[in-house]
Formats: sequence, structure tokens, C-alpha cells
Amino acid sequence: MSYLAKSDPEIANIIEKERLRQTNGLELIASENLVSRAVLEAMGSIMTNKYAEGYPGKRYYGGCEFHDEAENLARDRLKKLFGAQHANVQAHSGTQANMAVYFAFMNLGDTLMSMKLTQGGHLSHGAPVSFTGKFYKIAQYGVDPKTEMLDYGVIAEMARREKPKMLVCGASAYPRTIDFRAFQEIADEVGAYCMADIAHIAGLCATGIHPNSVNVVNFTTTTTHKTLRGPRGGAIMCNSEYSPAIDKAIFPGMQGGPLMHTITAKAVCFEEALKPAFKEYNKQIVKNAKVLAETLMNNGLRLVSGGTDNHLMLLDFTAQEITGLEAETALCRAGITVNKNTIPNETKSPFVTSGLRVGTPAVTSRGMKEAEMRNIGNWIAKVVKDIHNEAKIKEVSQQVTAMSSKFPLYPEI
Ligand SMILES: *Cc1c(COP(=O)(O)O)cnc(C)c1O
Repeated sequence: MSYLAKSDPEIANIIEKERLRQTNGLELIASENLVSRAVLEAMGSIMTNKYAEGYPGKRYYGGCEFHDEAENLARDRLKKLFGAQHANVQAHSGTQANMAVYFAFMNLGDTLMSMKLTQGGHLSHGAPVSFTGKFYKIAQYGVDPKTEMLDYGVIAEMARREKPKMLVCGASAYPRTIDFRAFQEIADEVGAYCMADIAHIAGLCATGIHPNSVNVVNFTTTTTHKTLRGPRGGAIMCNSEYSPAIDKAIFPGMQGGPLMHTITAKAVCFEEALKPAFKEYNKQIVKNAKVLAETLMNNGLRLVSGGTDNHLMLLDFTAQEITGLEAETALCRAGITVNKNTIPNETKSPFVTSGLRVGTPAVTSRGMKEAEMRNIGNWIAKVVKDIHNEAKIKEVSQQVTAMSSKFPLYPEI
């Protein structure tokens, strides 16, 4: 950062403050992660200097030969990682990956069936405030009110009634395994396409820790920056028969020039994900989540669905009579970054909520294991059970900083 510090000290200072925040705190936001230095370098490279509209071998600009090489590598590595026939790595984000699938295979006004945002789904799956809620007719399923898990019988019944053009599965706040095959079977029965949005669990799917959706459902979309631990961005995988429509929907359908520095960094991320260490990393994410969940429950806190199969868990504070917002605020002051989240039988607004989403990908990237998870679980319980106790928050905050200092973000920096 030596050039930036000279040319723009104001911004350099902001970046330094953020570096300290990331270093001293504990990042438990389930959708976040810490990329490798190699990914950081690729993202901050001169690959950003180029327009490369089009696809490898078919560009609208000259001088793209090395960008072709980088994008081809990114596509091939992603295909290898998931066993996919086709990969598009140009989507600027997870939302745009989803948009491309909808634009390619739906007409405006068609029915899209998906998981409700307040039950764990994503904005881009049909929320009224998203383009999806404006362009399509939306039918939404939730979780079973008792088990707080997906009930495939109920989803099948709804699909028969609603006859969607696109059945979407995948979630932002669902702590349990998703049966992609069951979703594709429901879609087949009612003549719908099936899209799995594995944004959160992509790393687990790539390493076989969660079942893979590729070659099971028609389309798989993902982000590259969550459990996959790459740069911020999106990607789409499908069989070859769908590839022309998907590629056209991304460019020229809805994007201009691809972010070539990001695509280059995606290639680096996918190569890292192909290595055995990435599987070990994802195993540890799940082990850590299990230990954290047990610790929280042993402290008398309730988890939605009674636990977790993946990298995240949802705390329900109804019994503690505190809100998700209050818990989020107090924990952030203790150096534990989390986000408030609606829970399945939510009675409060999305700005307040009764729950909290907690995930282990980022702390696992720092090398934390079961012992640290027990500490974190006990600290969370301590804070949320006595939310107005300033002395306790301060005490936890000191313990957080002390533990964090043993796990540097980037040891070489
Ligand atoms: C995070 C997420 C996305 C969107 O990603 P952006 O890159 O923020 O647009 C899409 N779907 C699901 C299920 C997600 O969790």
C-alpha cells in the first residue's frame, strides 16, 4: 500500500483502519470470508486495465489474448471443481448470475417458485423489492413450522398448484442439508426448470461435504466469495445444451465488459479450491460450526432446527426477550461481528428480528479450531444473556482481541 499511502493518505488510512478491525475482531458473518494473498494480488493487478467484451476467442476488442488465457483457465478450473459441462465466470455478482438464468429461460410474468426471504431465501429469489418480485409472479415456500426444515412433500404440493416455470432452491440462512435431487424431481414433475443457488455452500459442495447440485439440477449459480473463498463475484454452471442461452444472457444481455481482474482472481481461487487443503478447510468449517452450535446450546440458547449441518446456525432469542438487533449491536461492541436475521416463526420486522445468523468460514480461514469455537460460543452466550452489562462486554472484547492476536489475518503483513 506504499503508493496509495503517498497519493491518497485519506483512503490509505481508511484501509488501515479496516485492516485493524478485521485483525482484532472475530468475523462470524456467515457470508463472509478472507481471501488468500494470491487472490488479493490477482484482484489488484493490471488485468483491470482491459476491455474484453465477449468470450475467449470471440472478443469485441483487440489485445485480449492473455485475458482469453485467464478466462479459459477460470472456466476449466471451475468445471473441474464441480464436474460441470459448462461454466460462465463473468457474472459480476451472485444476483447477476441468478438474473442471467431467469432472463435466459423465463418470460416476464412467468412464475418463479423459491424460498421466502424471511425463512432463509435470498432477495434475488423473488423479494418484492428485488427485480425478481417486479418481473415475475412469485410463489414462495418456507420451512416446516415445527421442524424448521424443508418439507419436500409440501413443496411438491405447492409446485403442482402454482406450476412455476422456474423452481429455485438454495438459501442464505438455512442451516441444514438441501436435497437438490428432490427439487429437480419436483421440477420435472411439473415441467419446470430447476436452479440451485449454492452461493453460501459452494465450498462445501465442491468438496463433497454437502451434496453437489451440478449434474443434478438444470442450473447451478453461486457467488465466489463465500465458502469458496475467492474474490467477490458470481458464476453459473450448466449442461452444454443450456450454455448458449446462459452466455448470451450475461453478455450482451445484461452486462458489458467483464471484470477481468476479478475473473483472473476467480481462476486463482478455483485452483486453490482444487487442492486437498481446501477440502480439509471446508471439513474444519463444518466441525467448527458443530462445536460452536453445541456450545451455544449448552449455554441454554436455542438454535433454529436444533443445530446445523453446514457452516452456519441461526440463534433464536425469543426466550431471552432480546431482539436480533440488540444482540448484533452488543456483540459488535465486544468485537464479534454477526448479523441479525429473521427466524422461521418471526414476529418482528427485518430491521429488528428475533434472531442472529452466525457462521464459521472466516474464523476457520484464520486457523481457528474447536477450542476457539468453545471460547466464542461462551462469549456470545455471556454477552446476549446480560446484554446491558457494559463491564461484561468490555471483558469479552479484551478476550476477543487477545485470542485474535494469535491468529493473524495475513501472517506476512
Ligand atoms: C449471497 C447470496 C447471493 C448474492 O450475492 P451477491 O453477490 O451479493 O449478489 C445470492 N444468493 C444467495 C443464496 C446468497 O446467499
